[in-house]
Amino acid sequence: MVEATNFIEQIINEELESGKVNSVYTRFPPEPNGYLHIGHAKSLCINFGMKEKYNGKCNLFFDDTNPSKEKTEFVDAIKADIKWLGFTWDKETYASDYFEDIYNFAVTLIKDGKAFVCDMNAEEISKNRGTLTEAGKESPSRNRSVEENLDLFQKMRNGEFKDGEKCLRAKIDMASPNINMRDPVIYRILRQTHHRTGDKWCIYPMYDFAHPICDYMQGVTHSLCTLEFEDHRPLYDWVGIELGFSPKPRQIEFARLNVTNLVMSKRYLKKLVEDGSVDGWDDPRMPTLTGLRRRGIPAEALKDFCARIGVCKANSEVQISYLEACVREYLNANAERAMAVLNPLKVTITNYPETKEEVDFDINPNEEIKRTRKITFSKNIFIDRDDFSLNPPPKYFRLKQDGMVRLKNAYIIKCDEVITDGNGEVVELKCSYVPESKSGSDTSGLKVKGVIQWVEASTAVDVEIRKYGHLLKDEEYAGQDFSERMNTESVTVYNGKVEPYVFTCEEDKPYQFMRTGYFKRLNVGGKEIVSEIVSLKDNFNK
Ligand code: ATP
Ligand code: MG
Repeated sequence: MVEATNFIEQIINEELESGKVNSVYTRFPPEPNGYLHIGHAKSLCINFGMKEKYNGKCNLFFDDTNPSKEKTEFVDAIKADIKWLGFTWDKETYASDYFEDIYNFAVTLIKDGKAFVCDMNAEEISKNRGTLTEAGKESPSRNRSVEENLDLFQKMRNGEFKDGEKCLRAKIDMASPNINMRDPVIYRILRQTHHRTGDKWCIYPMYDFAHPICDYMQGVTHSLCTLEFEDHRPLYDWVGIELGFSPKPRQIEFARLNVTNLVMSKRYLKKLVEDGSVDGWDDPRMPTLTGLRRRGIPAEALKDFCARIGVCKANSEVQISYLEACVREYLNANAERAMAVLNPLKVTITNYPETKEEVDFDINPNEEIKRTRKITFSKNIFIDRDDFSLNPPPKYFRLKQDGMVRLKNAYIIKCDEVITDGNGEVVELKCSYVPESKSGSDTSGLKVKGVIQWVEASTAVDVEIRKYGHLLKDEEYAGQDFSERMNTESVTVYNGKVEPYVFTCEEDKPYQFMRTGYFKRLNVGGKEIVSEIVSLKDNFNK
């Protein structure tokens, strides 16, 4: 027996033990009306996680019952995102594959006196639905004969009525305390070209009716969804019971993933794209899976995050710093190190010869078997402006006038002279190096506390480097409208210098730029830049 790590697995274990089910079949059910985001990653991890854990199956099920918003473009993007996460579905299915079956099940309900064609339009239906404290009013059409209902439903299908003129409703209970059970609409008339069935249909089933049928038709045992569907479960069960589904799939709800500083509603993400706040769905600041992928977030780190936050029954908000910590942890173990400076400051090592030399650079100090590669060193280098101070505070271990610092994997240098321009701005440092202080064979006997990164001037590549802030301002603004929480300064641009190695490897490769953060190359409208994945600073409080 599999050890249960969450309440869904507990339920499944009990059912397997009692013999209620003997295998596990789930589905991931996106509506192809937008791009997947990090919230969907959680649902993917849960659904495909059950498949993996119980050696079961999981389908990719496109819920395409709402033709006005759905597109093939989204279907393709969703598939690419799921593959990126490393999940393989057993079958690719669509609600539209089952339109004929769903129609036939609706006819069965009518024949059983459990559904009726209603003459009221959407507005009248909603007006008569009642409230949480008051029962709804029964439709005057409710007691039509089975024959008349069958005839009208056929006419709905034939296109003999206008959009919205009639609908099919389940006959349940207008006094139910659950409003979803008050004779819900299960079919509507809608003349919309469907991305897969074209103009074959002018009536479409509602989600709540289609979903239990599609689950059953696919052999789904556990229909896992988010908490907002809890109130819909009685209807899900009603459909299964009235249509005699055996075995009947079981719906189980879990909490949505919400992350601080991230917008997760498709509607709002769409707005950001449309008003130009971001450069598209795959902008590296976007919480879409395509954005996270382009950002350089490793799929493994995202899955690790989903596993660590777990599956719970109550909604909550996860700190974005937790996600960042998972990314950092993965990259710290897996990313090669490289040299780069964001704000270059020229350094001339006056006592170093005119020649160049190759020094050994540690590829990743966390690797079990240490590897090094050669990087070029010469008398002309750049360091980061932030690593020099004219007015250093006490305990400043980086470079200062007459101070010493170690250049990572190279030599100790001493700052002899600071050259400033007419405005007092530091433009160059004249330094001297200690020849016997070379890393790995240091015999200088000098104790130097600071170690800083550098790049060799003649081989360095000039490149735009971008760092990112969150799209939404901090939690203190939570609860305000998204438009007021927008962080309008979510990109910072640097004219940096990077060692050439970074441009010889594949584009998507992540690097830890020493003492700076994790970065990768990125093509932005044909221009190659270097783009931040995550900073080095860990502000997550474990
Ligand atoms: P949105 O509200 O962003 O438009 P949605 O729920 O309409 O999302 P679907 O395409 O219907 O998007 O979602 C597919 C599956 O992913 C559903 O089972 C849904 O419950 C789940 N899902 C969507 N958002 C989240 C989230 N934030 N956390 C966990 N699961 C989610
Ligand atoms: Mg949805």
